[in-house]
Amino acid sequence: MIMSKEEQLLNCKWENKIACKKCGGKCCQRTACEASPYDFDCDRTKMVAALATGNYSIDLIPDKGRRVFKTLGSMWTLDVDFLMHSHETTFFMRPRNQGQLIVDIIHIGNELSPCVFWSRANGCRLPYEERPKYGRGIIPVAPGICENVFDTHTMLLSEWHPYKEFMYQMLKKYFDQDWYRPLGFTIR
Ligand code: SF4
Ligand code: SF4
Repeated sequence: MIMSKEEQLLNCKWENKIACKKCGGKCCQRTACEASPYDFDCDRTKMVAALATGNYSIDLIPDKGRRVFKTLGSMWTLDVDFLMHSHETTFFMRPRNQGQLIVDIIHIGNELSPCVFWSRANGCRLPYEERPKYGRGIIPVAPGICENVFDTHTMLLSEWHPYKEFMYQMLKKYFDQDWYRPLGFTIR
């Protein structure tokens, strides 16, 4: 099988424990790294199981024009029709951020929220091979100086596109209306 350049790069283990230790895990403290459907063998049952552990969240990449949102009376919500057909927006999965919801699609301010798998003492507790694809795709060159194997944004949009309907069902299952209501956001 011929591997793409990205796949060849990903087959290398880019871990640099010394650089990451000195850096203090800046990336993992900001938010969890993004997963690919391939981290779950493209198997929806495995995605369901991962969400059920409480250690994974559903996130949203909005399009630049924010057309994925629309108003609904005095509330705002997702424009599901636009979401399902657009290639500029998608849901995706990633590890959950500490203290955050499973449905974690609206980000307000710049508050830091570390990944549930991260601790200051031990860094990432997942074995390298079990980390999400877009975490493994980061090459730590020096403390806090990293290169990315992938164009993560573009790859997430294309990889998760076929899972939109499924992810929307998961979103509805885990959506916490009580938490989102004060923001004026709902799911319809
Ligand atoms: S060096 Fe890069 S990959 Fe390592 S913890 Fe810091 S920001 Fe993250
Ligand atoms: S899964 Fe590991 S590498 Fe990815 S953000 Fe969490 S702690 Fe960091």
